Amino acid sequence: MSYCFRLSQPARWGVKPRLAKRSRGFASSASTWLPVLPINLTAPNSRSWKQPVGLFINNEYIESQGADRITTVNPATEETICSVHAASGHDVDRAVSAARDALRHPSWRNLTGTDRARLMVRLADLVDAHAETLATIETMDNGKPYTVSLGYDVPDLSSVLRYYAGFADKNFGKTVDLGPEKLAYTTVQPVGVCGQIIPWNYPLSMAGWKLGPALCCGNTIVLKLAELTPLSMLYVGDLIREAGFPPGVINIVNGHGHVAGAALAEHEGVDKIAFTGSTKTGKDVMRLASGTMKAITLETGGKSPLIVFDDANLDQAVSWAHGGVMGNQGQVCTATSRLLVQDGVYNEFVQRFVEFTAKTSVVGDPFDEKTYQGPQVSKAQLDRVNLFISAAKACGGTIHQPSASLPSRGFFVQPTILTDLPASHPALHEEIFGPCATIVRFKDEDEALSVANASRYGLAGAVFTNDVARAHRVARELEAGMVWVNSSNDSDIRMPFGGIKESGIGRELGEEGLRGYYNVKAVQVNLSGQ
Ligand code: ADP
Repeated sequence: MSYCFRLSQPARWGVKPRLAKRSRGFASSASTWLPVLPINLTAPNSRSWKQPVGLFINNEYIESQGADRITTVNPATEETICSVHAASGHDVDRAVSAARDALRHPSWRNLTGTDRARLMVRLADLVDAHAETLATIETMDNGKPYTVSLGYDVPDLSSVLRYYAGFADKNFGKTVDLGPEKLAYTTVQPVGVCGQIIPWNYPLSMAGWKLGPALCCGNTIVLKLAELTPLSMLYVGDLIREAGFPPGVINIVNGHGHVAGAALAEHEGVDKIAFTGSTKTGKDVMRLASGTMKAITLETGGKSPLIVFDDANLDQAVSWAHGGVMGNQGQVCTATSRLLVQDGVYNEFVQRFVEFTAKTSVVGDPFDEKTYQGPQVSKAQLDRVNLFISAAKACGGTIHQPSASLPSRGFFVQPTILTDLPASHPALHEEIFGPCATIVRFKDEDEALSVANASRYGLAGAVFTNDVARAHRVARELEAGMVWVNSSNDSDIRMPFGGIKESGIGRELGEEGLRGYYNVKAVQVNLSGQ
């Protein structure tokens, strides 16, 4: 039976929202599921679209049960964009019930990997077809430059869907030779309902990294968006329905972290939690998930070092180091924000890095194609960055702020380079999550490694050298999940992404990224007749 035929069957999923069925002891207490109509929005670049603002459950945008709404703001103008429905604990119940029902429903459960791949590729095609609208939404809601939204975030979502679609019909079990009297084999099965909690720095991309492997393996999903940036993925809900995913396979809820996120993390109907966000919240999520011993993957904070040795190509090092810390307004978990530079080139590197930042980090309207750096995502994030800068000033650090003046409105901050800080200064150890680099000098390889590894984090690291032996030695010794040699933040969806220490558990992307999304079942058949 072809998958098209199966999906066009009159399914028990009605077009109308329906009451969640009681399962595993939890259920919605909703008496009605009221649809929510989209609202008309127009961005500063004059693009208009219909913006969904409800919770996306069972392929419908519906009201939250409570009166809670989240207002989202354009960080470049400080103007309100709109309000979206915020999920309560009951709403999370509804989304989880929908995902559980979809997990068992033949319209999803009986699909082959090839069928799932077709749906995923269809969604990827729709994402690409709506690229300009999605990029507009992302830039308006998050503040990142439109060129970046269009050139990176949107294609990252569609690429990762296509990448994992490629695995959907290739992820099999094995037969195991236990001798002539046994037939033994393993099968791979979906983990079940996956709660996926994403942050605000790459809303589309982070959603893709989570949806791709989960769908590939046949799971169903409740995706919890970050309260600061709900709009782009809410828009994708319509594309999910249009692609033909059965209702309940992908549910999208917006909501406060301590309400909706926490409800999802501890929910007894959720089998796995995948989280990206701060280390502190990651620990909360881990505690909440422990109640039902959920499978868990965490991608949390970082304070990644970038080491420049005397023999490095300085032009190359300066350019990659700049992108590694200033890109995406510095709001990147893998930002290589701790620059360690060897004595012999320290002064020259600092001078060139400051000059390069002055030239490259054009701060301003994110819809202007000349802009490199838009606003920080929120006033709170702006305040956080400024706090580190003033603390550095107070300690006698040198503050380099080479860019021109900032726009008068919006959550903008100067790209900042801090030098001459005392070794214990918080700016050298804590994640700033802004366009703010620290530079310290070192004498030799041992010192570089000991400073680089003196961190509770272990997400990424970069090393610049022309000595091939040293490059591999340092790559081996760096306590990090990812190392770049002569580049930085050069991630690729085909390579595993994730950290050690307090930077996380498990890996996303690459073939490794699948591991958290299937269970292996061992089957043994007695052939002996005894
Ligand atoms: P930030 O502090 O940068 O906003 P967070 O780690 O707090 O980063 O947020 C990342 C994601 O985690 C967001 O979707 C947020 O709503 C969610 N979140 C926040 N607090 C909790 C919590 N206690 N339980 C589950 N999810 C949470």
